[in-house]
Amino acid sequence: MNLDSILKYQKMDKGLVDIENRIKKSPYKAKEAELQNTKRKATADYRDQEARGQKFLKDFENIKKNFEMTEKKLKEILAKDVSNMTMEELERTQAVKEKVEHNLKILQKMFKDLDDGISSVTSERIKTVSIVNDSNAKIGVCKKKIEEEEQGLVPEKERIEKELKELEKTVEPAIMEKYRKKRQEGTFPVYVELEMGSFCGHCRMEQPKVALARLKEGEVITCEHCKRYIYAPKK
Ligand SMILES: [Zn+2]
Repeated sequence: MNLDSILKYQKMDKGLVDIENRIKKSPYKAKEAELQNTKRKATADYRDQEARGQKFLKDFENIKKNFEMTEKKLKEILAKDVSNMTMEELERTQAVKEKVEHNLKILQKMFKDLDDGISSVTSERIKTVSIVNDSNAKIGVCKKKIEEEEQGLVPEKERIEKELKELEKTVEPAIMEKYRKKRQEGTFPVYVELEMGSFCGHCRMEQPKVALARLKEGEVITCEHCKRYIYAPKK
């Protein structure tokens, strides 16, 4: 099997792979992914803070109702005419009054805690919103940089693609198809030379004797480990 054409093609294709890798490994891509992650986390935090805020408001309404009722009760007690009460009634009224006053104090404390809670959740939310906004702005910058990088590589990419198109005409269609399939799977290089008489030129796995015999007869074998096509070095 004459592999000269496909090997020439692969050599040119390497330029395209390098461009693809440069785009893939752009530091702006990594930064963008990191920012997206920060944003996702902040968005989840915001939802949680919002739910907590809602719960505080609901609690506030409940405590307020309770406070108003208790206050009303206290007013009623204070409005009672004590002059005609028996000693026993007077004592009972006094006990109720103390209890009500005590309850009011508890409710006041609850208001205070609630107020602290609302303040803290509010300032958390302000921080979260600013994290989201900040991430969005930076993600925009990254996206622009990535696009610029890609745009900068377009002329080189187009030049290689044009040359590949020409080279393709010299390659046997069946070989081209197999090559393309591997390449699309993310395998590169597709063809590698046998090394030191029995090893895959890519993953260094030793090839079985049967395969090596076929290789000697001019066939191309497939590495059992990395699935690349292995060809015998030219003598
Ligand atoms: Zn291999």
